[in-house]
Amino acid sequence: MATIGFIGLGNMGGPMAANLAKAGHSVQAFDLSAEALAKAVEAGCQSMSSAVDAAQGADVVITMLPAGKHVKSLLMNADVALFDCVPEGTLVIDCSTIDAQTAREVAAAAATKGIHFIDAPVSGGVGGAQAGTLTFIVGGDAQQYAAAKPILEAMGKNIFHAGDHGAGQVAKACNNMMLAILMAGTCEALNMGIKNGLDPAVLSDIMKQSSGNNWALQVYNPVPGVMENVPASRDYQGGFQVDLMFKDLGLAMDISQQSACATPMGSAARALFNLHKSQGNGHLDFSSLIRLYQ
Ligand code: NAD
Repeated sequence: MATIGFIGLGNMGGPMAANLAKAGHSVQAFDLSAEALAKAVEAGCQSMSSAVDAAQGADVVITMLPAGKHVKSLLMNADVALFDCVPEGTLVIDCSTIDAQTAREVAAAAATKGIHFIDAPVSGGVGGAQAGTLTFIVGGDAQQYAAAKPILEAMGKNIFHAGDHGAGQVAKACNNMMLAILMAGTCEALNMGIKNGLDPAVLSDIMKQSSGNNWALQVYNPVPGVMENVPASRDYQGGFQVDLMFKDLGLAMDISQQSACATPMGSAARALFNLHKSQGNGHLDFSSLIRLYQ
């Protein structure tokens, strides 16, 4: 079993760290939020007073932070940057969703110090993080992937090697652009059915058994009351925030621009989430997009 420094214990990082502790790893946890840290301690992690403390003596350091600027600052640019504190040979796994360019820059900076850095963004949402069934999408070399896999298996079910550094983030951006498009389409279709007198639960069942079937209908219905244990049924609290989806669509649009790749549907989805966010809904789960239609 390994000693793991875990930094960023939010909606995703909290349950991920808990699963590592449950698997028998020694987890040295840190978050800027005292509340998040307290929850991790309840789940069997050790509370550390800084990110640098969390990384002390760790074989592996995992970060689960909001965006690229947080990751870069913590690892490379902070007054006491983590890359200046961890010994050569340490494996640093960033599970945050960030831009591929930053992931490549951070990997290159790590390599100059003999530190192994891989991007390993996840899919599966808070439910997947709690159940330990996340999908991990790794960018890094084959040796780094092999070293990370047994650790990631304590938190996930499907571990993919997408390619070299940054490839995990590119694959994640493709996936989340697709997710935004299908959630917008699902909200649009359900809203039209409701406005025309259909019961959303019945319409959802019909579409699940028809060609409109998709992940949102299966596990993340956006209409309150249709499914238990989804954000829609708790006033869109928890889950995956509109702000984070909007960030991910920005990452997808950056890739689209840099590679001159047409993404008209992704661009439309980004405009919808932007409008929803601008109406004060950034902190709500992304399935709350249905309110924009209502
Ligand atoms: P969150 O806002 O709930 O958690 C982020 C945590 O990081 C917070 O607790 C915050 O206090 C902490 N933090 C920020 N800066 C820090 C620092 N310098 N040191 C220590 N802690 C710091 O976000 P989340 O929903 O857990 O998402 C985290 C990442 O995972 C994001 O990149 C997001 O895009 C991605 N993601 C989220 C989901 C989801 O369903 N929520 C799914 C897949 C991927």
